[in-house]
Amino acid sequence: MESNNPNDDPTKEKKDNRFPKKRPLPKLMACMTKHSLDTFRSKAIFSLAMLDSNGIRRRKFPLYECIILELKEAGYCDSSTYLQDLIYDNVQLVNQDDIGIVVDLRKRDDYLEHISGILQKVEKHRERNNTHKECNHLLNLAMYYAEREKGILWLAEKFYQVAIAVSSKHLLDGGRLKAICKYHYGKFLLDKFPGADPEEPFSLLTEVRDSAIGKTWPLSDAKEPGEVQPTATVFEATALQLHRVLLDKARAVRKEDTAKAERLARLAERRAKDAGETVKTAEAIIEIGICQLMMNNLNNAQKTFERAFKIYESGNNVEGLCETRMHLAAVMQRLGEYETAAKLLTEMGASAMEHGLRRQLGRALHLLGELHLRRERPELGTQHLAEAFLCFMGFQFQSLGSENKIGIESDKEGQEMGEIYIENENEIFEEEAEQSRLMTAISAGQELMASYFNLLREAGGCTVAKMKTIEWKLSHARWWVKRLHHDFLPCPCPVHHRTPLDVLCKTSSPVNSAVSPTSPVVTSKLN
Ligand SMILES: [Zn+2]
Repeated sequence: MESNNPNDDPTKEKKDNRFPKKRPLPKLMACMTKHSLDTFRSKAIFSLAMLDSNGIRRRKFPLYECIILELKEAGYCDSSTYLQDLIYDNVQLVNQDDIGIVVDLRKRDDYLEHISGILQKVEKHRERNNTHKECNHLLNLAMYYAEREKGILWLAEKFYQVAIAVSSKHLLDGGRLKAICKYHYGKFLLDKFPGADPEEPFSLLTEVRDSAIGKTWPLSDAKEPGEVQPTATVFEATALQLHRVLLDKARAVRKEDTAKAERLARLAERRAKDAGETVKTAEAIIEIGICQLMMNNLNNAQKTFERAFKIYESGNNVEGLCETRMHLAAVMQRLGEYETAAKLLTEMGASAMEHGLRRQLGRALHLLGELHLRRERPELGTQHLAEAFLCFMGFQFQSLGSENKIGIESDKEGQEMGEIYIENENEIFEEEAEQSRLMTAISAGQELMASYFNLLREAGGCTVAKMKTIEWKLSHARWWVKRLHHDFLPCPCPVHHRTPLDVLCKTSSPVNSAVSPTSPVVTSKLN
């Protein structure tokens, strides 16, 4: 075969080097001599031999059928059967799938080749009784497909389950491998199916935790000899995931069963401590405090929030401090300590503004507005709530931010800074903004209510007020609008203090009447 190849001839190669090769002209079939026809035929036969029996089959049948057969023929019987089962399950899933999201493996040649390659390795390790490597290959396969598109997650799940089954046979390491597989499966369920019932991952992770108590099992092996051993242990990593599930569960039942939510949050706090995570610990403590506040357990709630405050303070966690101040203010408000509540919210707003936390600033302004409204100071409430709305929409904050920036870097163009700010801060907190807008309307309504009751009280001794009340009742003429004819009403009250004779003099003097406003003027200050 080798002598057929002209390039292998050393003399010819030399000749080629001396004379630059010319591009051969294409030969026409009609001009072929007997000799060239023979060469052509032998070449055709030679290239035919390149296609082995598998190659021919792959041209005729779909790839998945070929791979199943090839695996069997090469002696990988388990892999062949397993792949066949996978395809069977996949077909069922594709048929049940109404929205067309499930990946059809039969159409994904790249996935099929990848899977069959790994399955062969797995089967080799199984024959050599190397359960550890067998399991690791399966786990990696599962983790690989867990990070692919949504429609292939079913496959990842199957590989996780197989990996767990294999790891159960591996007892040399005291159950570390099994714990690792179960941990990854539990985390996968939590990460990829966030809305689903957390009971299965929760019980899986609880099993892992029970087996890992007191063990210093590293979560992953150092891949290279020189590589630094990863520091996270199975126990710590599992504790973090358990903290996450417990907090989610607590938040889900908080409204229906607050006492249960508090117990769950306390467990979450302990798990965060197991993991040595102070920020997560504070997060759980805040949840405990919220539950206590909901159960009207005000003194305990205050102590709990103060505990979280200390943790955030030591870590200089600005967002955490803002959140804790907000909750503490809610407790203070319930305790009737409005001044302290207002002080906390003001501090929260100031710190949020200093660190560019627009959402927290908006929240502080909104809550201050609500606090003023509750204390029957709607005129202050309306102002804060309107500011909160602007802040959530990103208007107020932009101007505040760019003013500060221009102050610092006066050489820069103001417009340029504005553009940068708009680009960075274009997020609109719609839901919060809508709430603030509604509360502003309520607060403004409260302002009018106060003003209306004031008017009614005045109407006892003031003719003008009486007239305004009557006009409002008869024709909804707004009492906070000043009208010309009110100036011509005789009224004995100390404010107006004019007799019918004064009014007569006023009407006869054209100069005085010209001074009076001819169009209604909105009074800026409401009484
Ligand atoms: Zn009057």
